[in-house]
Amino acid sequence: MSYTIEGSTGPWELVVGLEVHAQVISQSKLFSGAATAFGAEPNTQVSFIDAGFPGMLPVPNRECVAQAVRTGLGLNAHINLVSRFDRKNYFYADLPNGYQISQYEHPIVGAGTIEIELADGSTKEIGITRLHLEQDAGKSLHDQDPSRSFIDLNRAGVALMEIVSEPDIRSPEEAGAYLRKLRTVLRYLGTCDGNMDEGSMRADVNVSVRKHGEAFRTRCEVKNVNSVRFVMQAVEAEAKRQIAVWEEGGTVDQETRLFDPSRGVTRSMRSKEDAHDYRYFPDPDLLPLVLDEGWVAELKRTLPELPDAKKQRFIAQYGLPSYDAGVLVAEQRTADFYEEVARGRDARLAANWVTGDFFAALNRTGRSIEDSPVSAASLGKLLDLMADGTINGRIAKDVFEAMVESGDDPAAIVEARGLRQVTDSGAIDAAIDTVFANHPDKLAEYRAGKEKLFAFFVGQTMKATGGRANPAAVNEALRRKLSQA
Ligand code: ADP
Ligand code: MG
Repeated sequence: MSYTIEGSTGPWELVVGLEVHAQVISQSKLFSGAATAFGAEPNTQVSFIDAGFPGMLPVPNRECVAQAVRTGLGLNAHINLVSRFDRKNYFYADLPNGYQISQYEHPIVGAGTIEIELADGSTKEIGITRLHLEQDAGKSLHDQDPSRSFIDLNRAGVALMEIVSEPDIRSPEEAGAYLRKLRTVLRYLGTCDGNMDEGSMRADVNVSVRKHGEAFRTRCEVKNVNSVRFVMQAVEAEAKRQIAVWEEGGTVDQETRLFDPSRGVTRSMRSKEDAHDYRYFPDPDLLPLVLDEGWVAELKRTLPELPDAKKQRFIAQYGLPSYDAGVLVAEQRTADFYEEVARGRDARLAANWVTGDFFAALNRTGRSIEDSPVSAASLGKLLDLMADGTINGRIAKDVFEAMVESGDDPAAIVEARGLRQVTDSGAIDAAIDTVFANHPDKLAEYRAGKEKLFAFFVGQTMKATGGRANPAAVNEALRRKLSQA
């Protein structure tokens, strides 16, 4: 059943398209040599070009162009060997030139696709309309002084990729899945760090609603939403608002809105501007951008393995269920960690430990993989201790907890705490005898035919050995002893 929102006139379908601004990872800006590092003192990373001084000439940064091409290739998109930079004219205090250099009619990247996965295990393709390069603006600071505003131009001129999706998204869940998948792909490619809380990825959310089978209705654009959760909330809030407008007999006007996360509503910012309002024209300071086919092919050849391909490989090579493979490839470093643990070991068991106990420990301690007290090498050693029979699976959980607490080597923990598995049949027999002696009533019941008490005896015997007994040996010994009259 597809996602709908129930109104007083019946169900409504959601139509959503996202425009994502992704900050390009590069040493310097799109048209100047100024640095791009996050968090620098205001106005310390500003060249004359970024400050809009008269007579300064922009020079395209080859690395920014390469990053856009890599991203296009990663989105299975068409690379336009000829593209063009235009001026988008508007006035704003943090835009010293009075125009933004962007690509309007001829973007560097054309149509592509991205595959998203949904909670029910299904997948869906979302179309990418285009990707173009543009400059970021500066930042106005209104909260530093009671009577004045300040301008920080560090961000002015930083390269952005605007990635526009087709209106293929049909639910808040799909919108969230799209953004997360896009972020994963960008991070794998190393073209954008995807840190939404630092503003290096922000989304404009276009929303409309319709009755099933209808043509698209008017959309509104919710600007600059800066987390996946807020995008999902904004989609739902804006859809509900529009449904109410239509159902009251009104019409939705195309406009630009803002999402207020504290109140969970969108509010109007301005009526929608059209392309002609910006008086776009080709930037006379810049030649058309012409890419060499061989250069594009070389960029393609050197792309890293991307998440979809890695997931298929994990399924084929390690025999993992699709879901587990998806979880492991969501971040490159998680995938690398897993592969180090799995190498030469039981790959499915490794996946269970990484996605189970290991992720839970990171969550609980608020750590990331980089500062995890348990390295891939030491988790691998723990699996080896189980594989060679030094410890059983039950004790491995305790050893793992000790590793999380101390960062110690698993073998050292096993020795220091005397956790080696008991396989000695004499010791196991003795433990069973004690259990029988302590529970004569249960033994009688068992002998009278209550066979499910077998599990009780297993549990008691394990307990009597401090959990260290080899479970298979306990089962076997119990069976032997219980069958003796
Ligand atoms: P603009 O540049 O004016 O924002 P675009 O044609 O680039 O217009 O579209 C912007 C976004 O709006 C795209 O992501 C597109 O998928 C989405 N979109 C277009 N029509 C609709 C619609 N009826 N409902 C929801 N989203 C839409
Ligand atoms: Mg737009």
